[in-house]
Amino acid sequence: MKIIDRLNENKINISFEVFPPKTDEGYDKVASATDEIAKLNPAFISVTYGAGGGTSKNTARIASHIKDDLHVLSLAHLTCASSTKEEVRQVIENLKRLGIENILALRGDIPEGIQFPSNDRFRYASELIGEIRKHGDFCIGAACYPEGHVENEHKEDDIRYLKQKVDSGVDFLTTQMFFDNDIHYNFLYRIREAGITVPVLPGIMPITSASQMKKSVELSGTVFPRRFLSILDRFGSSPAAMKQAGIAYATDQIIDLLANGVKNIHIYSMNKPDVAAAIMSNLSEIIRA
Ligand SMILES: Cc1cc2nc3c(=O)[nH]c(=O)nc-3n(C[C@H](O)[C@H](O)[C@H](O)COP(=O)(O)OP(=O)(O)OC[C@H]3O[C@@H](n4cnc5c(N)ncnc54)[C@H](O)[C@@H]3O)c2cc1C
Repeated sequence: MKIIDRLNENKINISFEVFPPKTDEGYDKVASATDEIAKLNPAFISVTYGAGGGTSKNTARIASHIKDDLHVLSLAHLTCASSTKEEVRQVIENLKRLGIENILALRGDIPEGIQFPSNDRFRYASELIGEIRKHGDFCIGAACYPEGHVENEHKEDDIRYLKQKVDSGVDFLTTQMFFDNDIHYNFLYRIREAGITVPVLPGIMPITSASQMKKSVELSGTVFPRRFLSILDRFGSSPAAMKQAGIAYATDQIIDLLANGVKNIHIYSMNKPDVAAAIMSNLSEIIRA
């Protein structure tokens, strides 16, 4: 089943994300975290793709496990900057062979030490999306950035390129993490004005430790509101308290989004089933209302 068909059902959809193991030895641990997350009855589980392309085999393996053994929709991420066009074509063909229908198409970060752009690599996610469309009837998601992508100085450029990307064949968008819902509402308003009509899944990351927050800032350049910083200030050095407060903060963000008419939410709880379960428990009545 395609994720876009699930999103069009007009009910509340909560999805989760996992990252694949870097080595085959780590497979069982990731698979068992995924098994626990699947028990929460998510709309789908997405599987990230290693920045260097190195985990491509394990992305496909975990995505197949989710689909075939756990009977949950799976979304395989695919990046193109770190691989040649030919390598990317092989990955797409492999996903097709495995019966994986849903791909999140990304450019990925540009690896250091390679010539980029170059003729033998896709330059933007939009080019990758065009390629995926040639290989079969996939449901294709793509990334968007409510606070702007780090490479763009001007937010207008971001929206202009996003519109081009969506027009290249995107079925739905998932946002970069954000911690202030007003930023998301403002972004939604601007992209709808620009004529982007596909479903947008806000990406919510529960921050459960001070080190995770530091990593998130480095990765995304996101802005943390004062309310979040006070939590970190007060509880950052008490791991159990910080975890509880981070889960509560993410829950709060989700409740606000649902109260404002958002139907689809993607949670970056990564390979932490306990965090995913705590959020779902907090929402148990809310998602039924
Ligand atoms: C939901 C989500 C999931 C992610 N999953 C992964 C993952 O699994 N693995 C991973 O390595 N990374 C992942 N990332 C990170 C992502 O790969 C990086 O943010 C990357 O730098 C951009 O990828 P993109 O697909 O958004 O690129 P693009 O959409 O290609 O955009 C890249 C940059 O080029 C600009 N641009 C686009 N088109 C044009 C054009 N025609 N002319 C000029 N400029 C243009 C854009 O505005 C942007 O600044 C994810 C990000 C998000 C939000």
